[in-house]
Amino acid sequence: MTRRNIVILGSTGSIGINALKVIERFADRFKVVGLTAYNNYRLLEQQVRKFRPSHAAVNGSGVDYLRRHINTRITKVLNVKADIDEIIRLRSVDVIVVAMHGSAALRPFLTAVRTGKTVAPANKEALVSAGNILMREARRHKATIVPIDSEQSAIFQCLAGEDREHLKKIYLTASGGALLNISPARFDALSVTQILKHPRWKMGKRITVDSASLMNKGFEVIEAKHLFGLDVDDIEVVVHPEAVIHSMVEFTDGSIVAQLGVTDMRLPIQYALTYPQRWKTGLKSVDFTRLGRLTFQKPNYKKFPSLALAIDVGRRGGTLPAALNAADEMAVDAFLNRCLPFTGIYRTVEKVVQKHKVIDRPSFTQILDADQWAREEAGRLIKER
Ligand code: MG
Repeated sequence: MTRRNIVILGSTGSIGINALKVIERFADRFKVVGLTAYNNYRLLEQQVRKFRPSHAAVNGSGVDYLRRHINTRITKVLNVKADIDEIIRLRSVDVIVVAMHGSAALRPFLTAVRTGKTVAPANKEALVSAGNILMREARRHKATIVPIDSEQSAIFQCLAGEDREHLKKIYLTASGGALLNISPARFDALSVTQILKHPRWKMGKRITVDSASLMNKGFEVIEAKHLFGLDVDDIEVVVHPEAVIHSMVEFTDGSIVAQLGVTDMRLPIQYALTYPQRWKTGLKSVDFTRLGRLTFQKPNYKKFPSLALAIDVGRRGGTLPAALNAADEMAVDAFLNRCLPFTGIYRTVEKVVQKHKVIDRPSFTQILDADQWAREEAGRLIKER
């Protein structure tokens, strides 16, 4: 059996670490050929020692450190900013996992789809900001995009073997985040630590904060619009606190198909790595009789205005989603650094979105410019408060 060669962009983050756990279980069926990180060169060093990729990349000072501490006859060490494309374009690669944080993933994602290989994105920002271009380039270069985000993976799985033309509607489920049952009057009194306690999923910091505000779900609406070629209005967000149904699709005949499973990211990660096959995960099954019931609610758009804002932005399109994402990244960062109260995230992002001069059908450069502009604008607003 031929091995699948994997590159992980962002191997030291939450998704990267879990992807390597999946790979470790099937040491004879996967081969890690490239790993990249940004700052966490010590963890990258451990990963390189263990998985012995032919290439690794890291930021600035990490390059020297890594070259001194690993066997460079086995692994070539590169600068992640300058040379990441060299790793993405390795001919032997079968699957490229895009797990790096933030807008930094935009260019590498574009390079990845242009290789025509399988691209497994966990990063949201790239699809939110540049979904049109990425999907167009993926089609042009016959790349297969198998999303890792649990909701998008669910939709992708529901559509397996189906004609996309028969897709009528998506039900995007939301666990509701840390604030589902907390009065908005108390939001700003909660500590960063309390906001970072997600009831169902263990994830990175920014996405956990975005889950609390439901901005994350808004991003996922925009992502799903691009991935599955629907209008924003054909994507309905349904709050489902048990997080057992990871999303559902409705076909033109009215039939609804759902994907269910335990809340463990290794499941969608492994599916993306083994697609179109399914291998054993060793994870336990859902115990339905213990669960008893599954519940659903309409999202409260008043309490979570970020969700409504993101959906509006998704409808508007152009460079606006890039501005939304960049402003949110800045505002969430400021919140995590205790420079902004929780509700200040929305207020900052909304102001940036309102001020942005939208360019329709933007080029890739115009998207990057909008991202940069929104970052500066949000930074200014945060400083001025
Ligand atoms: Mg998700």
